[in-house]
Amino acid sequence: MSKYAYEKKSVYQTEYTPDLGNKFAEKYLKFLKNGTTERRCVDYLVALAEQNGFTAFEKGKQYKAGDRVYLINRGKAVAFVTFGRQPVEAGVHIAAAHIDSPRLDLKPNPVAEQEELVLLKTHYYGGIKKYQWTAIPLSLEGVIIKKDGTAVDVHDDALTFCISDLLPHLASAQCEKTLDKAIEGEDLRVLAGSIPDLEEQSDKVKSAILDLIHEKYGIEEVDLQCAELTMVPKLEPAEVGFDKSLIGAYGQDDRICAFTAFEGLLDVEIPDKTAIVFLADKEEIGSDGVSGMQSRFFERMLSLISGGGDILEICANSKCLSADVNAALDPLYPSVSEKQNTCLLGYGPCITKYTGARGKSGTSDASAEVMRFFSEIMRKDNVLFQTGELGKVDAGGGGTVAMYMANRDIDTVDIGVGLLSMHAPFEISSKADVYETYRAMRAFLK
Ligand code: MN
Ligand code: MN
Repeated sequence: MSKYAYEKKSVYQTEYTPDLGNKFAEKYLKFLKNGTTERRCVDYLVALAEQNGFTAFEKGKQYKAGDRVYLINRGKAVAFVTFGRQPVEAGVHIAAAHIDSPRLDLKPNPVAEQEELVLLKTHYYGGIKKYQWTAIPLSLEGVIIKKDGTAVDVHDDALTFCISDLLPHLASAQCEKTLDKAIEGEDLRVLAGSIPDLEEQSDKVKSAILDLIHEKYGIEEVDLQCAELTMVPKLEPAEVGFDKSLIGAYGQDDRICAFTAFEGLLDVEIPDKTAIVFLADKEEIGSDGVSGMQSRFFERMLSLISGGGDILEICANSKCLSADVNAALDPLYPSVSEKQNTCLLGYGPCITKYTGARGKSGTSDASAEVMRFFSEIMRKDNVLFQTGELGKVDAGGGGTVAMYMANRDIDTVDIGVGLLSMHAPFEISSKADVYETYRAMRAFLK
């Protein structure tokens, strides 16, 4: 091969040792176990940030280089900021990730009794393969706002829920259907009780369950309309494989990038440009809404930290890594990937010039200059990275928050960890990639 040829290298061919990956993974697994919803991710990371010198931003206070603050948006999104040597107007370095993940949200009126069992009706959130969510243990998570305005935090390790699936013996008609149709959205109903209240005339089990809900949370059925309740997989995050080189867990898209960016920022003492880790909600449903990446909260945050500076100027001078996962080459499904332009497990974070679908529809498509800028940042710190697309040209597609950042006049490119089984209840990543992505975030933010 010509000495001018590009040879892709794995993290294992660098100075990386499994010890480094294991140590980092320990912290990451703990975060995954606790960060089961965007609200819980915010709570967990803010607590960790406070232990590391971050304080809630105070309007009007003068901050100096090295000061660490956070700004929370409605409990569901958060910006962690470390002030740089240069003023905010000189531009900021932003790592933007999302902390919402696909799941099954409860409908506003979820409780139903059918065949003397109580079922909770759901509406799935984000892109899921519905059949993957049946016959696995689920956990109820979220918040209920009571009539007096107080919030009830819903999370109980002692409670387990489940969606039933048809036994293979009687599934011949179901098995004739396509994967997409075998389980309908309306059939993702969660088993939630079976003991009747015999004193009631009708809906005996539902009555008994509503009594239990009242006892536990102090609410009536109608209060469930003022709640964000969701079912997430109740699966312990785990090390996978004989060599424990992989991580299996729910919600790695995109908490893997949120956590690596956050840890990278913790390592930065006084950055040159102000460094921001922005963790958004609602990416899985289009980044809309007050807590999504398209929200003007982002501009308000810039206005606050710059003391009323020129937002347009700040954005134009800024750089952003849109930190989100990519699809790693799966040996079981190699036909959807074009190997030369697909990320491989164990080859470091993947810089993705563009995502989108068909003819690059729905993406910001980073410029050559931006690709060079970030490539050199990585090379300077000996961070191993790879570049790739999201699957074959016409295989499908997807998007990230990159285009919403780029639309703000911020030079942006995607970077992230390659996953197997993305959006499944148990997603797989490589510890080596997680560690190298943390190094990539640090290199950019410092
Ligand atoms: Mn994502
Ligand atoms: Mn996703």
